[in-house]
Amino acid sequence: MASDSANRSLPQSDFIREIVARDREAGVHGGRVVTRFPPEPNGHLHIGHAKSVFLNFGIAAENGGLCRLRFDDTNPERESEEFVRAIREDILWLLPEAEGQVAEPLFASNYFSRLHQHAVALIRLGKAFVCDQSPQEFMECRGTSTSPGRESPCRDRSIGENLDLFERMRRGEFPEGSRTLRARIDMASPNIHLRDPALYRIRDRAHHRTGSEWRIYPTYDFAHCLSDAIEGVTHSLCTLEFAVHRPLYDWILESLLPPGDRPRQYEFARLNLGHTVLSKRRLTRLVGEGKVAGWDDPRMPTLSGLRRRGVPPEAIRSFCEEIGVTRYDGLTDPALLEHHVRENLNRRAPRVMGVLDPLRVVIGNLPPRHEEEMEAVNNPEDEDAGVRLLPFSREILIDRADFMEDPPPGYFRLRPGGEVRLRYAYILRCTGVERNAKGGIDHLQAEIDPDSRHGRPGARRRVRGTVHWVSAPHALEAQVRLYDRLFTVADPSGEEFMDHLNPASLVTRHDCRLEPSLARAGPGVPYQFERLGYFCLDATDSRPDRPVFNRIVTLRARRPVARGMVA
Ligand code: ATP
Ligand code: MG
Repeated sequence: MASDSANRSLPQSDFIREIVARDREAGVHGGRVVTRFPPEPNGHLHIGHAKSVFLNFGIAAENGGLCRLRFDDTNPERESEEFVRAIREDILWLLPEAEGQVAEPLFASNYFSRLHQHAVALIRLGKAFVCDQSPQEFMECRGTSTSPGRESPCRDRSIGENLDLFERMRRGEFPEGSRTLRARIDMASPNIHLRDPALYRIRDRAHHRTGSEWRIYPTYDFAHCLSDAIEGVTHSLCTLEFAVHRPLYDWILESLLPPGDRPRQYEFARLNLGHTVLSKRRLTRLVGEGKVAGWDDPRMPTLSGLRRRGVPPEAIRSFCEEIGVTRYDGLTDPALLEHHVRENLNRRAPRVMGVLDPLRVVIGNLPPRHEEEMEAVNNPEDEDAGVRLLPFSREILIDRADFMEDPPPGYFRLRPGGEVRLRYAYILRCTGVERNAKGGIDHLQAEIDPDSRHGRPGARRRVRGTVHWVSAPHALEAQVRLYDRLFTVADPSGEEFMDHLNPASLVTRHDCRLEPSLARAGPGVPYQFERLGYFCLDATDSRPDRPVFNRIVTLRARRPVARGMVA
């Protein structure tokens, strides 16, 4: 297990923060720090984006600078207002401090006129030309990492002809795919991104914000650096795969802007999380092919999925702080995220009891209408959380997993003739097993030891096992959803990733019984179901007569938490 993120105290510095500090000290950019978070509105944000959000907004805040939210909306065919809305909601949830930026986001599409003017200027400089090659010819002439490309026959068009053709592209005279505007750089460059890359392409698609005003749209490479420059961005942070685009980023800015204060691009390692996929293209397939219930399915690594699952944003933040920012790609163990979720919830989630697979227990030494109330501690980690009263009666329910007729040695839960403590209540002895017509266990007969009542002096008598329970006539009926990893393999990054979906990533328990206080649970509010894990009410599928609870995380890790990377 490699780990360069373990045992650091929080918050920590990293190579990007060091660059920013050095720049400020040296007075680069006049000491200003302006960053941006630039999502493309073509899907929902995932936990990898959270890393970038915390990095960009964090660096700005720490340096008295500014971080803007900019939608990088230059691909009309994939983008929508719905995704813009979802992304704004997700950032606000993750980072409430970003409220002002979320309220007034920027859009690359705001700059379409200026970007177009820049393109015309590049043509006038003889640094861009209209190319008639089809996308296929373009790819064929590009060359490979070991062989140079071939120049387009259109490369030496006159400036006048290029201006005319580009204007006609803009007016919509040519069909999609028939022409592009390309930078005129070097078809023999060892960097394939400098081999006369496309800057503008024709798209016959309405844009979600500019409608049918434009028929040509800038590429990522052309729009991104110029948008950064327009906004006065100083440090443009992106993931490592863009390192090879950096020479083009610089070439465009150097060609078009006067020397002086230009944005600079820096690259950091993206977050890769084990047993899931963090790419909008793949997440879109999971949603589109119905493998999950939507972008906010609680199994999804999307921010909306994590929110619906009940993961607190503070846990995502401390997780991102622990993994830190490096220049080396790796695969982070999801157990580390789960660890941060548990740490957070352990401190603040009230304890309650619920039974996922109810087994009825009839207490023979209590009268039929017996009812009393037991005092239970709400949160041992938080004295101020107080206590609540649990109804207790002659018929209770325990989890089937807490009873065995013929248990192996070392089993401390309930068995015929054996005793367990009912949490916050009495010691219970199993006196009999009643069978149904099919021979299965229908219910148990039992007796309590009246002197063992929780809190009474006699209650000091000890038994090995403690089990959770609910009072049968008082219990709340609920559905409970238990989640597991979405993929069975740690690294489902191949094209056949769908083959590795975990068929047991969702197990639904339909007939659960919960303590009555949970009737007041608010959506998304976390509770610890004692001995079972952390749960919250599902905001989408719950109905007043049938609440649905999601398991956020189990109580303990399945194996020790590996800090940082999985092998
Ligand atoms: P995807 O690969 O999921 O499609 P993307 O890079 O296309 O993501 P954008 O919306 O373009 O998504 O990304 C917005 C910002 O988030 C970019 O600056 C990008 O570098 C960053 N980002 C995207 N994925 C990750 C990740 N896994 N870890 C860290 N940062 C990420
Ligand atoms: Mg992208």
